[in-house]
Amino acid sequence: MHPTRWGDPAAAAPLPEGARGLIELAFGLDERAAEPDPEVPPVALAAELLDGLRTIVGVAHVLVDDDTRRRRTRGKSTPDLLRARAGELSDAPDAVVRPDGHDEVAAVLAYAAAHRIAVVPFGGGTCVTGGLAARRDGFAGLVSLDLVRMKRLLAVDEVSMTASLEPGLRGPEAEALLAEHGLTLGHFPQSFEHASIGGFAATRSSGQSSAGYGRFDAMVVGLTAVTPTGDLELGSAPATAAGPDLRQLLLGSEGTLGVITSVTVRVRRLPVEKRYDGWRWPSFAEGTAAMRTLAQAGLLPTVIRLSDETETAINLARPDQIGRSEPGCLMVVGYEDTAEAVAAKHDAVTTVLSGLGGTDLGEEPGRAWVAGRFAAPYLRDSLLDVGVLVETLETATFWSNLDRLYSDVKDALDGELDGAMVLCHISHVYETGASLYFTVAAKAGDDPLPRWQTAKAAASDAIIAAGATITHHHAVGTDHKPWFAEEIGPVGVRVLRAVKAELDPVGVLNPGVLIP
Ligand SMILES: Cc1cc2nc3c(=O)[nH]c(=O)nc-3n(C[C@H](O)[C@H](O)[C@H](O)COP(=O)(O)OP(=O)(O)OC[C@H]3O[C@@H](n4cnc5c(N)ncnc54)[C@H](O)[C@@H]3O)c2cc1C
Repeated sequence: MHPTRWGDPAAAAPLPEGARGLIELAFGLDERAAEPDPEVPPVALAAELLDGLRTIVGVAHVLVDDDTRRRRTRGKSTPDLLRARAGELSDAPDAVVRPDGHDEVAAVLAYAAAHRIAVVPFGGGTCVTGGLAARRDGFAGLVSLDLVRMKRLLAVDEVSMTASLEPGLRGPEAEALLAEHGLTLGHFPQSFEHASIGGFAATRSSGQSSAGYGRFDAMVVGLTAVTPTGDLELGSAPATAAGPDLRQLLLGSEGTLGVITSVTVRVRRLPVEKRYDGWRWPSFAEGTAAMRTLAQAGLLPTVIRLSDETETAINLARPDQIGRSEPGCLMVVGYEDTAEAVAAKHDAVTTVLSGLGGTDLGEEPGRAWVAGRFAAPYLRDSLLDVGVLVETLETATFWSNLDRLYSDVKDALDGELDGAMVLCHISHVYETGASLYFTVAAKAGDDPLPRWQTAKAAASDAIIAAGATITHHHAVGTDHKPWFAEEIGPVGVRVLRAVKAELDPVGVLNPGVLIP
């Protein structure tokens, strides 16, 4: 992907006319000139160290050209895009190193530790929290460890319903390989088309169908990782009482403790039938209560998402339909399974939702959501092109604290960004609570980055003050570190630092990321 934009240039589209009118009314249009390719700094890693890496992975797989280094710089948060649009790519890697397999990863890490070369594991590059923006001071140089050659389906166990996948497989590639066996992972984050299996594991990702298939970390039954001090092979049974679960140390470790070289996941049979309905609720509070009822009754469908009044009104859940939404709050409820199971779940859920005061809108809103489910990130680029800053943030808490969290975060964002639109939806629910996902749109003006950073800090302070988590699925990276430290407390910080010192004593893996 290009550092200034999301995804596939062929899929990018200009702002739809309806949205353009709405944006002009709200913020005015401030068309920006197309940005030139940002410059990358010269390669700082010594020639003999590059040669050493070439002896491990082959000459063709140590890339130092500007374009490759540009495309492996940072991730895809709005601050990442703004910096790249401003021509700032100062933390580009010196080289992009592409190992093929576990043993080559191990050899690269050993070489990097021996020569103090910082290593940034790179999956799909869709990180939104600075997890690819490692520190390079104190190191001989910094390389991006691109896992793009590690794309094999290693094993399928159709009796146990598990599959072992290499980390470089992108979402669609993994699904295509599993589909040959009639299987699916069911992990569809909005970044699905570009993010990787290793990245999902390293960030504890959660997909749009998490109600039915679970979060990614809940799907992982085993994994293999290379650390600078040796290999870890974890997960030999479906459940165990053999001490603390070390898999959980690697899940969410964001490339700081080891490189995940294979992941064994629980898989399901491909659904035969899919159905997505729309429901309207008079208020966000009533829709939220209905979600809680379903979760606590064990009646969750495969997909369930509820937009608040503002998000419903401008309908970011349906980017092709902005400005045409009904009043109240839109909920999308999706079912994927055998025909019989879909019918049974649909009937049970419909009875509960109708009884709670929801209005059944039929399948049209659900179909529209499915059609646009991966399109919103392209809309962000189109909005930046007309001078509108758009960014998202997310958190989670228990049901009893959800209302407070919702209003505190909204107030914090409103207080810092005059005239901003603050939208929210819930799309990951549990028996005990849910996540809140905020989208913020504001006039970019001349200096959007510091304004956004101030607003994000205020929202993060509000999240921690409300006793919620700093991230439900975007991970910590560099951006959330101060709040993460508050969340886990000083003893938690010491534990993480001790584990880091044990597994990566020289500190070459993603320096400055995650570990406070
Ligand atoms: C538009 C957009 C929509 C998004 N929607 C969602 C969503 O719906 N749900 C969600 O959970 N997230 C979402 N994200 C965030 C992001 O897609 C996830 O964090 C994803 O899991 C990152 O995967 P990746 O392969 O792109 O990882 P990368 O961005 O390449 O890396 C992420 C972190 O993991 C480390 N890493 C990567 N691979 C490995 C490995 N094999 N071993 C060890 N460390 C590794 C990297 O060093 C980095 O710290 C979204 C992001 C964008 C830009």
